[in-house]
Amino acid sequence: MYICDLHCDTLTALYREGLSLYSNERHFDIKRQQALGGGLQFMAVYVPTREFRYRSGLRYTLCLIDKYRRELAELAAAGADVFPVLSLKDLDEVRRHKSAALLTIEEGGAIDGSLEALRCLYALGVRAMTLTWSNRNDIADGINEAGTGGGLTKFGREVVAEMNRLGMAVDVSHIAPAGFWDVLETSVKPPLATHSNAKALCAHPRNLDDEQIKALVKAGGLIGITFAGQFLEEDYHNACIASVYKHIAYILDLSGDDRHVGFGSDFDGISHPPSDINGYQDFAPLLDYLSARGLSDATLARITHQNVLAYLAKVL
Ligand SMILES: [Zn+2]
Repeated sequence: MYICDLHCDTLTALYREGLSLYSNERHFDIKRQQALGGGLQFMAVYVPTREFRYRSGLRYTLCLIDKYRRELAELAAAGADVFPVLSLKDLDEVRRHKSAALLTIEEGGAIDGSLEALRCLYALGVRAMTLTWSNRNDIADGINEAGTGGGLTKFGREVVAEMNRLGMAVDVSHIAPAGFWDVLETSVKPPLATHSNAKALCAHPRNLDDEQIKALVKAGGLIGITFAGQFLEEDYHNACIASVYKHIAYILDLSGDDRHVGFGSDFDGISHPPSDINGYQDFAPLLDYLSARGLSDATLARITHQNVLAYLAKVL
C-alpha cells in the first residue's frame, strides 16, 4: 500500500547521529518505505525551543535542510528514487516514483521573526510549517501557554497570509486553542494538523476537541493521526494498534466523511510508541488491523494516501 505520512522527526536523528535516510535502525528509512509499496513522507525540521531561543534557530534549520538535501542528492546519485514534492504539477508525477518526500518545519520560530527568511525557506523546499511548537514564539502561543488565551500575533497573521500566498501548508498541531481558531478564521487555504488525535478519547492538551475536528473538516483541512502513546491513551502503556484504529474511527464517525484523516506517525519523534508499532514496517499490521475492523478498501486508500494528495492539491 502506498502511504503518505504527514510527520516524522527522522531528519533530527539523521543530522545529529550522522545516519542515512536510505537505511538506518531508527523508525523510518526509505528502504522500509519502498518495501511496503512506497509513499510520500513529510520530513520535519524540528527546532527545539532552547536552541532557537538561545542560539540561532534559523542556522540550525539550515543545517537540517542541508542534511535533507544532501541525503536526497546522495540517493539520486546512487540511483534510489526519492522525489521531492515542491509544486502542484509534482502531484501528477509523484506516484510514478517509488518514494517521495516533502520538507516541513515544526516550530515557526525557525523563521526568526522574518518573512524574508520564510520566503527563503520556501525557496529551499519547505512546503508546510507548524506555526508553533508547544511554547510561545512571535507567531502565536503554543499549547503549553494555553492559559494566556493568546492567539495569532499581528506578525503571525502576516505569516499565515504569506504561507497562503506562497503555497505552504499551515500546520496547527501544537498551537494553543485561541491560535487554532485565529488560523481557521484567517487562513484562506485549508489548515492541516499533521500530528494530533481526538481529545474525546484521550484528554492530552495536544489533541483536538470535537469542535476543532469539525472545523478542520468543514474547512477542507486534514488531520494526521499520530502514534505517540500519550496522545493515543490516557496511560500510554496501553497504546497499541487498536488505539490508532479507535482515533481514526472516532474522527470518521464525528465527521461522517473519510476525506479528512490521514497518518502523522511522528516516527523518530515519539518517546512512547504503541506496544506493537516499532517503526515504519509496522504500518503493515496496522493496515491489516484497520481492514479487519471493517474499513473498506476505498476508505483505506483515502486514509493512506489519497487524502494527503488531495489536500496538497488545495494548498501548493
Ligand atoms: Zn510535534
